[in-house]
Amino acid sequence: MKPTIYLAFVDDWELSGNGSGDARELQFRPMRELVKIYNAHKVRGSFNAEVMQQLTFRTFEKDHPELKTLADEWDETVRETYRQGHDVQLHIHPQWRGAEYEDGRWRLTADWSILNYEPDEAYRMMKAGKEYLENLLRPVNPDYACVSFRSGSWCIAPSPHMLSLLVRLGIVFDMSIVGGVRYETKNINLDYTNCDEDFLPYYPVMTDARKVSDKREPIICTPTNYFYGSRRQVFKHHLGKAVAKVRERVRPAPAARQGARSVEAYGHEWAQNRHASLLTRVYEKGVVPYLKGKHLISDLAQLDYALLREMLASIRRRARASGLDSVPVILENHTKDIQDFSDIERFVKDVSRAEDIKCLTLTELATELRGGRFQIRVAAPK
Ligand SMILES: [Zn+2]
Repeated sequence: MKPTIYLAFVDDWELSGNGSGDARELQFRPMRELVKIYNAHKVRGSFNAEVMQQLTFRTFEKDHPELKTLADEWDETVRETYRQGHDVQLHIHPQWRGAEYEDGRWRLTADWSILNYEPDEAYRMMKAGKEYLENLLRPVNPDYACVSFRSGSWCIAPSPHMLSLLVRLGIVFDMSIVGGVRYETKNINLDYTNCDEDFLPYYPVMTDARKVSDKREPIICTPTNYFYGSRRQVFKHHLGKAVAKVRERVRPAPAARQGARSVEAYGHEWAQNRHASLLTRVYEKGVVPYLKGKHLISDLAQLDYALLREMLASIRRRARASGLDSVPVILENHTKDIQDFSDIERFVKDVSRAEDIKCLTLTELATELRGGRFQIRVAAPK
């Protein structure tokens, strides 16, 4: 029997990692655009609203009325999206802690990884974020609650305390694990290349979300999807991006787009440090893609239509291989990085017509995980 795939369209909604960018261009306008696409195809999406940014805007708004205007628009955009049936959940970038604001620019100097903060400090940030969202959205729906978490820059494991803190906050599941990623950048160090489970929900070892526990735990991990793109499509996609980059240089963006991110911004934020050994780099860039294709996070903003089709084929293959009849899958997106909505729109339309796919929000996923619709993996006892 064909399994039913329960697909969550998830989006990390935020400014650039260094605090740069215009919130209207990177957040408000593209969110409305995406919501319009979802509505047209009767899909309900979920937005992981980065709240540290908003809390920082609120802190500075008394001395800077322009920040108050933006923070109010942020609230209104989030509330309106939620009112239209889409979900909003918790996302935290700790680098906003202790931010400075000078000449209309943010200077963020704090650590990007929440794993490097003392437990009390990490808890305070997450609790403040959760309370902000709940206060904002309960007037629309008194039952609204933050039930899921995605950590800024995927930083969730290993950590002696992070998962326990999420349990204290009432979080049902975390979605910060993405199989196969490894970052050694100026901001982030993490290694998810050897996760016990990178497709199905599971109970994690409480001190290391990369490992499956041999018993039920008070929190669940649902990985964010990834897949291997074929060399052919990845090459075509990069070629298209290179052409866009050249065009951007020849014909600079009009004034209206000037708060937007360039094609290069994403790559710059995630550039790997140089000191990975030459052999490692040759192996990862040169050999691995030939063996199994190019590792790609299922981040819709980074994929074109052909790659989105490959992503869906990979999800269907893996769902079938699981032998289960219901499988939840979490996609990623970054509104700030979407250059062209047409590929995403085609993909959303395909999904909305597929008989084997149902879309669900993160709140619905939490309810179904608790209610037993999906199998949650436990490791065999040692
Ligand atoms: Zn983020």
